[in-house]
Amino acid sequence: MSSENSKNKSILAKKVFCKECGRTMVHRVEFKKNKKGTSEYRAFHCQLCKERQTYNNVKEKKLIEMLHQYMDKSKLDLTEKISEKTFKEKTKNYDLEIARLDKELQILYEKYKGSEITKAEYIKQKSEVNHKKLALVEEQKDYEQNQIVRSEENKEKDILKIFAQKYVEKIIVSRFGDVEIEMKKL
Ligand SMILES: [Zn+2]
Repeated sequence: MSSENSKNKSILAKKVFCKECGRTMVHRVEFKKNKKGTSEYRAFHCQLCKERQTYNNVKEKKLIEMLHQYMDKSKLDLTEKISEKTFKEKTKNYDLEIARLDKELQILYEKYKGSEITKAEYIKQKSEVNHKKLALVEEQKDYEQNQIVRSEENKEKDILKIFAQKYVEKIIVSRFGDVEIEMKKL
């Protein structure tokens, strides 16, 4: 399994640093088989310290639990707003594109009425634009459906990710288990 996969990518990627050597810690997901099936094990590792055999590893879960302590009401409200705004902006792009195709249909019709193009050309071009429009409408429906399911399932994850990007400067992990969270100066 590749750690580049978006599902496997950590919401804290590039924020976690090794206290011993100062390097960015690498996130890895491992799948371990057990009685219940397969369980996911997500952790950060320091590569250099691993080479030096002074292993520095920390579970992603532990870092996320710690971050919650820094998430006060005002930060949480703002983060939720950003999360909703991003969703609305993406949806709006579809509306704009569909409106543009409608405009194109209108122009085609006017060209046909003004005898700039033949009826056959009009029908052909109209059908092409309509085809594009239909595909886009379908795509938008799917997108919105997925977005709703995803935001319900992963809302907490989304919020944590935005929170980390907006407020967290660094998470410094020592190989003796200490974690320091450095917040951005806003
Ligand atoms: Zn290190």
